[in-house]
Formats: sequence, structure tokens, C-alpha cells
Amino acid sequence: MKHQLPDLPYAYDALEPHYEERTLRLHHDAHHKAYVDGLNNAEAKLQEARGKKDFSLVKHWERELAFHGSGHILHSIFWTNMAPNAGGPANGAVAQQIEADFGDFEAFKGQFSAAATTVEGSGWALLCWNPLFEKLEILASEKHQDLTQWGVTPLLVIDMWEHAYYLQYQNKRPAFVEAWWNLVNWDDVNARFAAAKK
Ligand code: MN
Repeated sequence: MKHQLPDLPYAYDALEPHYEERTLRLHHDAHHKAYVDGLNNAEAKLQEARGKKDFSLVKHWERELAFHGSGHILHSIFWTNMAPNAGGPANGAVAQQIEADFGDFEAFKGQFSAAATTVEGSGWALLCWNPLFEKLEILASEKHQDLTQWGVTPLLVIDMWEHAYYLQYQNKRPAFVEAWWNLVNWDDVNARFAAAKK
């Protein structure tokens, strides 16, 4: 089964003015699509290698598998983490867990925003549930797959690649992050938190 680019759960202009249509269209239709295609290609090449019993390029295709697979997963989460008329402080079970693990919502928001704005090069800030430590953690990954922990489940992610914000916000990373908080879909974060804790 080939991986498919998921449809957005809202119209291209639904996140305006915080996330403009032009950026969203390019980001979803071109950039996310490229990760889906890259993942399918890596899987096909590895299948071909197994068939030929020729593993001379396995290092390359394993890297492609990690990069494009992680890119596809994180973008799929990123779209559903946003919604029109959303944002504001966390609610529900995830709000209680945020208070327990970060002190209060403002402290969490401060750390998450700082992690996002200081990602070196291209990467993500991620709120993750760690089932081994039984707590929420904020991680800042480079590219899609570097600098993470094994076994965590991402619940809330922000894309800090330039393609995610540059057309609308240019080099003003903090302005993009501040606008993005107005779009956070806490219902989706709570649904992901409930599933991760099962
Ligand atoms: Mn992206």
C-alpha cells in the first residue's frame, strides 16, 4: 500500500490571517507531497534491493526512509493540530498534564515558543507524551528526525522550516510562532493525548 497525501481538514483560506492561503497551499500540495513521494520511493527501492539481494545502497535508502517517513508523519499531525477559531490556553486532560509537568500554561508556552524559535536550521518543536517517563516533554528536532527520544508520541508540533513561514513572515520566526498559537486545536491535542495514554 502506497502512502497518500492526506486532505486538509479545512479550506486553504480557513486559517487566515494567521496562516495565509498561499503558504498553506504550497506547504501542503508541494512540500508535504514531496515527503509522501520520497517515502514511497524509499520503500520501493528497499523492496527492490531485497529482491535483487543487492544492499549496496541500503545506507542511503534507510536515511531516506527516516527523513521522508518522519516528514510525512509530522506534517500529517501539523495540519490537524490547527483549526480555524481555535487557540487560547489548553483545556481538558492535556491542560492538567501541562500544569503537572511544566508548572503552568504560560511556562509551557514560553518553553515551547523558545524551543521553536531557536531550532538550528530546519526543524520542529514538539510536545510529546513519553510513556516510559510518564510525562509530557518538549523536544526540538532538526530536519524531521534528528534530536528526538525513542518511544515518544508527538501530540502538538510546529514546523520551523522556512517553507512553513517565510512567504508570510520572512525571517520573523517569533511572529510566526505567536500567530500559530491562535490556531492550536486543543481538541485534537487532547484526542492524541488520550490515544497515546491507552
Ligand atoms: Mn513543512
